[in-house]
Amino acid sequence: MSQTTVRETSVVKGAIAILEDSFVWPIPRPVFCCNPMNTPAHVILNLLCLNSVTPTQALTPVVAGAILPDAPIFLFYFVEKVLRQTPETVIWTESYYHPSWQNFIDLFNSLPLMALGLLMAIGMGSNIGILLFGSMMLHVAGDLPLHHDDGHRHFFPMSDWRFSSPVSYWDPNHYGRLVAMLEIAAVVISCIILFQTYDSLAAKLTIGLVGTSYALYFGYVFVVWA
Ligand SMILES: [Zn+2]
Repeated sequence: MSQTTVRETSVVKGAIAILEDSFVWPIPRPVFCCNPMNTPAHVILNLLCLNSVTPTQALTPVVAGAILPDAPIFLFYFVEKVLRQTPETVIWTESYYHPSWQNFIDLFNSLPLMALGLLMAIGMGSNIGILLFGSMMLHVAGDLPLHHDDGHRHFFPMSDWRFSSPVSYWDPNHYGRLVAMLEIAAVVISCIILFQTYDSLAAKLTIGLVGTSYALYFGYVFVVWA
């Protein structure tokens, strides 16, 4: 190979490396694998899925149902980070795996308990209950195929079984970058559709607020966890 060809090859390689670097997605490292799946994304996607059956006044139970499965993780993070001042690495490598935290978190991700709640809501004819538990189940349906080695025990307390999906919502070794990009695209498109669907100012404000917290969530992930 001539010297010019060698130089040209290394210039091309360098250009590709620069391109790749500029497109690298700052996904949280594996050590912080257990952060909840982008909760605002769940809210937006659940609202879109339940949109046809969701009048404006039913916004609250759908939003609450989308947040509830992740709520214990936010409480866990608040207790460890703010109250106990546990170092960030210890939070996600030790504290998170403590059986009492795991049981507490998985209770909110339990499909049998959600199904029980849904049946009770149907029995009582409570539309709010139906939307709340329906939204929680939809959240789990979104989590289930997108967690590789950090999934919840979705049949707890009946079973300790965890589903290990070949696809991860964050792990670059399991299509994490692609999923993150698709998720962002899905959320942006859903926000636009929902914004046009809802007439009331309160509903539009809710969508705007959730969309903003989605952007802020990514900001936090990139600054603290990336
Ligand atoms: Zn979740």
